[in-house]
Amino acid sequence: MRYAAPPYMYDVLPYPSTKEPWLTTARWRAVERHFREMVMRAGYREIRTPILEPTELFKRSIGEATDIVSKEMFTFVDRGERSLTMKPEGTAPAVRACIEHGLFAEHGLLKLYYIGQNFRYERGQKGRYRQHQQLGVEVFGAHDPAIDAEVLALAMNFFTSLGVRCKLHINSVGTAECRARYREALKAYVAPSLQHLSEEGKMRYEVNPLRMLDTKDQRDLAILAGAPVLRDFLTDDSSKHFEQLQGYLAALNIPFAIDDGLVRGFDYYSGTVFEIKGEGLGAQDALGGGGRYDGLVEECGGTAVPGLGFGIGMERCLLALEALGIQPPQEDESPIAFIITAGEQPAVRTTAVTLLHSLRSSGIAADMDYLGKNFRRQFKRADDLGSRFYIIIGEDEVASGTVQLKERTTGEQQKIDIDSVVQYLSGKAL
Ligand code: AMP
Repeated sequence: MRYAAPPYMYDVLPYPSTKEPWLTTARWRAVERHFREMVMRAGYREIRTPILEPTELFKRSIGEATDIVSKEMFTFVDRGERSLTMKPEGTAPAVRACIEHGLFAEHGLLKLYYIGQNFRYERGQKGRYRQHQQLGVEVFGAHDPAIDAEVLALAMNFFTSLGVRCKLHINSVGTAECRARYREALKAYVAPSLQHLSEEGKMRYEVNPLRMLDTKDQRDLAILAGAPVLRDFLTDDSSKHFEQLQGYLAALNIPFAIDDGLVRGFDYYSGTVFEIKGEGLGAQDALGGGGRYDGLVEECGGTAVPGLGFGIGMERCLLALEALGIQPPQEDESPIAFIITAGEQPAVRTTAVTLLHSLRSSGIAADMDYLGKNFRRQFKRADDLGSRFYIIIGEDEVASGTVQLKERTTGEQQKIDIDSVVQYLSGKAL
């Protein structure tokens, strides 16, 4: 029996695979670090929530009529007869956790970030998986359009500072009341052409009319071309908020396009919504997106606390970097020193093992061979790992309490006391 990862799920390996060379743990960590440093500079604190949540939480927050809840969740009944769902997104779990732990009451403004795995039973393809990771932020407590600008700027800055070219699309979906009025107007407009709509379009017309706008079907797009736009149904407050946001974006020199068709896949959005699209990525070009969800906390059982946030797709970001030939700045995984032993004497190996462990305990990355490789091949291994120094130990060295220390790039070699190796290399490890 040969096992494989579940469909449209993948392994992240320490070495580039032929299938997915862009997917390595070093790149993964580099992008995570880039994100973490950026959001921490802006005062965001990390939240980690369980993979599993009560199914009801997602039904209530994302909405029963959305694609995610109606057909994409990994849901099961546990041994205690509870219906649990592997989280398909990070916002509702963050809201649930903040309500549960009373964080909204304690903090006027709550700025959170997360790096988390999401699960959606999607039709997989390149850039669309059944398990994907999102890098996200959530801000709770503020209505100020300046915070919308901060959140959008963070998402854009994340990509531009990595060298990824992308475009910001924004829209406002207004309040629940704006959307209710618009929904009626949109349905009235589409009604005469209903029989020409795609099956998906017809279904959305019935259960979630705004989602009709989120289609790639050419015929549906043609029918919707002259439809009323949601922006014209916004209340004065919503319009003003959206205009102020645009003013901030202009002041920050962040180019954006207003996209009347942008409604996003979750029901909880209100006011600002946005999406970041990468250039040259084909169909899966959405790199990230988010928006305001001013009614969500209340919907999930909390008090009326406004909120907003974004989620950035990790895999899409890595694919974009790969397509552009950009290597994110990676951590150096090479050892400082590689210990090479000469001869078979047990005392030589014992000395090597002891030195190896004291190097590591002193914070110096070090390694040695365990495969019984000959002298020459041990050097080869050290070279392959990119070690900066070879530490050579033979019978003579053991007898005299010394080692030969050789710098790989310069070839400079010196004999030093075994007791001063750690100190010597500590100076070099900086
Ligand atoms: P969403 O949570 O649907 O708003 O998605 C936010 C971002 O996550 C998207 O812009 C994508 O970059 C990424 N994303 C969403 N779904 C997937 C998926 N199935 N596979 C890979 N990335 C995804």
